Amino acid sequence: MSGPNTEYDPVEVTPLRADEVEAMRDAALAAIAAAADLEELKQARLDHAGDRSPLALANREIGALPPQARKEAGARVGQARGAVNKALGERTGVLEAEHEERMLVEETVDVTLPTSRRAPGTRHPITTLSERIADVFVAMGWEVAEGPQVEAEWLNFDALNLGADHPARTMQDTFWLEPAVAALVLRTHTSPVQARTMLTRTPPIYVVCPGRVYRTDEIDATHSPVFHQVEGLVIDKGITMAHLKGSLDHFAAAMFGEGISTRFRPSYFPFTEPSAEVDLVCFVCRNGDASDPADCRTCRGEGWIEWGGCGVVNPRVLVACGVDPDVYTGFAFGMGIDRTLMFRHNVEDLRDVFEGDVRFAAAFGVEI
Ligand SMILES: [Zn+2]
Repeated sequence: MSGPNTEYDPVEVTPLRADEVEAMRDAALAAIAAAADLEELKQARLDHAGDRSPLALANREIGALPPQARKEAGARVGQARGAVNKALGERTGVLEAEHEERMLVEETVDVTLPTSRRAPGTRHPITTLSERIADVFVAMGWEVAEGPQVEAEWLNFDALNLGADHPARTMQDTFWLEPAVAALVLRTHTSPVQARTMLTRTPPIYVVCPGRVYRTDEIDATHSPVFHQVEGLVIDKGITMAHLKGSLDHFAAAMFGEGISTRFRPSYFPFTEPSAEVDLVCFVCRNGDASDPADCRTCRGEGWIEWGGCGVVNPRVLVACGVDPDVYTGFAFGMGIDRTLMFRHNVEDLRDVFEGDVRFAAAFGVEI
């Protein structure tokens, strides 16, 4: 006769023995207590509370025990695991607090320490003034047009009524690009943008074209081989010299203040007929309104300052650019942006504008 083997106590022969479980628990608690930082504690957690830890393996063996042994072994292992998890939780809290404290100390910034300061760069005043000028015209509903700085000879000269044998060609000392047969130049004015605009759009046209231009000038206080122009072009029905005058007076007031108007002097440009030089009321003496022009260094007693050129678009230019001169008329003007900047800010030497010394640009502030 054989009954249940009540004498068999597997607890005594497996890792579920009380002393074994206690040893596992003590090893776990010792490792947790010894963990000096969160990284070490993570490892202790893996070793002693992870899926492959001795206590987890022991827990798995409980199921294989006879029912009467399960309860006791289960309680023993459960208590040990509970103690380990509790210790883990407490140690985590302690180490996290320590970590936070250390970070606060280590990452403290002493705001009173001197620093090596690097000044921020600024945008060049020519760039910001170009944009400001464009804004004046955009506010009147004009568009901004741009063109390449390397330009076809035909667009730079021929389309603007400056034929190959036109004497005015020699007025503009030109940089030619090689090979000569390519007939390319560094544009001598922004006027080819007008030609491009008329060739690609149908009137009405209201455009302003700020840009960089080139001439073979020696650099000195008032000349540079590279400089900036802003050109304006309007083509519409019934456009007259009066519209031109009104637009330039508005432009002058926007640049130099209310009350600064313009004066036209007869002149000659191949692409406009009639043509005029544009003078500004001297913005210092205001031609006698503010002080006696005779004492004025800015206009040297003139009361007026030369600003640019303008005129009614020559019908020959309209024809060359595919616009019917019997239907449309227009005006054009061109001003030096550098010259405008010098007037506005009392810059006496053009070289300061081009030398790229950040101290010059910085004086205008960080304008976006
Ligand atoms: Zn003056």
